[in-house]
Amino acid sequence: MTTISERICKLSESETLAMANLSRKLKSQGFDVINLSIGEPDFNTPDHIKQAAKAAIDQNFSFYPPVCGFPDLREAICQKFKRENNLDFKQENIIVSTGAKQSIANAVLSLLDPGDEVIIPAPYWVSYKEIIKLAEAKPIYITASIENDFKITPAQLEKAITPKTKLFIFSSPCNPTGSVYSKNELKALADVFAVHEKIYVLSDEIYEHINFVGSHESIAQFENIRKRVIVVNGVSKSFAMTGWRIGYMAASSEIVDACNKLQGQVTSGACAIAQKASLAALTGDLSSVKTMLKSFHERRDLVIKLLNEIQGIKTNVPNGAFYVFPDVTYYFGKTDGKVVIKGAPELCDYLLNKVYVAVVPGNAFGDPNCIRFSYATSNKLLIEAMRRIKAALAELR
Ligand code: PMP
Ligand code: GLU
Repeated sequence: MTTISERICKLSESETLAMANLSRKLKSQGFDVINLSIGEPDFNTPDHIKQAAKAAIDQNFSFYPPVCGFPDLREAICQKFKRENNLDFKQENIIVSTGAKQSIANAVLSLLDPGDEVIIPAPYWVSYKEIIKLAEAKPIYITASIENDFKITPAQLEKAITPKTKLFIFSSPCNPTGSVYSKNELKALADVFAVHEKIYVLSDEIYEHINFVGSHESIAQFENIRKRVIVVNGVSKSFAMTGWRIGYMAASSEIVDACNKLQGQVTSGACAIAQKASLAALTGDLSSVKTMLKSFHERRDLVIKLLNEIQGIKTNVPNGAFYVFPDVTYYFGKTDGKVVIKGAPELCDYLLNKVYVAVVPGNAFGDPNCIRFSYATSNKLLIEAMRRIKAALAELR
């Protein structure tokens, strides 16, 4: 008998966080690590948001907030959905949580029973499958290839649906591929769900504002499935607020009530000060968001250009988020004379040990042919990282 529950023993550690921890550790030991592993903006939180948090402290927002979030923040979220997405939600449809990660966990644990199937397009974000495991439900993967810009087709979706399918989870813009589904592509998926009335759709829109091809499109816009869509979003990525830990969900009041019950027993309401800061983020002007978007766009172009100069690396052009997910199979089976690159995990170990660049193996995201770079760091560090990677890869024969 072990001390730790089977549930937790079966749970994998988050590979993105593990790689980030490892690179922090190496850095603290004095190694010159460039960390392209974790997905987090390198910008500071904009000043007007920090000011709002300071004011909230002075105004004594030090008491338990409502479990589902302050009414003014939930109202601001409703307004944001109306203004930016043309979606109508009432406060009863909104719950604020400790990060979008908790919003996703709330939704999954509130909706799924053991044995329910959840369809996930691969490549997917690391935590979906593990949260689904916690709910004792079964992830069913649909594989999208680099040739199709890592997007699934309606035919693939239709084929994966069974009477046990309860939920579909995806992100657009996507972590880890940066792919962005167009309005037409989303409509085609929505039309499939329209005829399968028991399936819910969790649309993870955390990268909404980091989109290089135009305005954000949400699958919740389609009337034929709207009531079954759960939209998850948050302030972490768009407003450079990863450490503030505020995410939110919009869904039917039945689902929101279930999440409220769960959250009330597990964490209570999200940090009061961070909620007030998020209120300023969602009601303030978006000029700092636009400035960050411009930088991400330039960095995307820079990284793609530099990666294309490296032999054997195959990339798509990511239209959003701040990741590139190149195919690196060219290097599998090669060696520098000491280590053999069996697959993406060995390649990532090699890059970390040889040239101190931290990236994440695609296996963590359901695609063992690729590795993920987060380019949410300065041009200077990106240029240096790509120089080191090119040199390290050139030694593999
Ligand atoms: N969804 C995706 C696709 C993400 O990349 C992240 C980043 N951690 C999250 C959700 C969770 O974001 P947070 O908990 O910081 O709001
Ligand atoms: N979403 C980021 C990433 O994928 C943050 C790390 C995490 O929460 O897993 O790297």
